[in-house]
Amino acid sequence: MNESVIKLFKGWRPKVVFWDMWMTLGMSHCREPIGEAQQILSPDLLPVGANRHPIPTGDFLRFCLTNPTSDVEIFAHEASTTFGWDLDAERLRSFRVLIGKEKNCIALFPEVDDLLNFVQSLGFDQGIISNLWSFPSERLFSDTVLSRYFNPRDIVCSYDVRHAKPDKEIFEEACRRFGVRPDECLMVGDNLTADIKGALAFGMKAALIDRQMNVDPQEVVRLSDDGYPPVLYMTNLNELRNYLALCPASSEWRP
Ligand SMILES: [Mg+2]
Repeated sequence: MNESVIKLFKGWRPKVVFWDMWMTLGMSHCREPIGEAQQILSPDLLPVGANRHPIPTGDFLRFCLTNPTSDVEIFAHEASTTFGWDLDAERLRSFRVLIGKEKNCIALFPEVDDLLNFVQSLGFDQGIISNLWSFPSERLFSDTVLSRYFNPRDIVCSYDVRHAKPDKEIFEEACRRFGVRPDECLMVGDNLTADIKGALAFGMKAALIDRQMNVDPQEVVRLSDDGYPPVLYMTNLNELRNYLALCPASSEWRP
């Protein structure tokens, strides 16, 4: 365990643990749905990533993550108008099929149910801050075990707030819903820019889950050179248990 992170948790108790959704609590199984959506709707051939899925452009990704529409046809028309693409019947049909799959290809990581239960048992409030388009949200939050731990107020989504992480507005909305200050929150996520740097810049503390070991741990350590509190680096989400168990109990913690 990292000494400076141990010190942080021994001397602090978050009021709320905020979770990122994709690649932290779960995944859209074996897919890059927004890249596939752009490939269907746009006439351009997109570059393909290491996992063979098309990579969406930044402007299309942002459009998807901050658009509140849950109607598939309206969404496809809005996207096509915004980006100057022709929407013909075949593209619309393919887009409908994609969104159908999107709702049915959700998988939570196996440790998630027990871990959320553990965090709840220690008395922490929990929320979700997710960069998400609207389509899978009902299946994700109503039809999985997530519904046992989070009610709709606890789930802050970019399509609803119309800002995506790392924008401060989405972290601000999360704090507003729980009635807490940023320094009373821990953000747990897999994305160094969106989750970790976004949360730190807003004044939260942060923990990075790097299951696939894509991030250089030294880069995480170096964030404290910018004056940020130490960031917990994990390759297994269950490591978080050891650190949260160090926090003072709520009965003895007076900030
Ligand atoms: Mg993520």
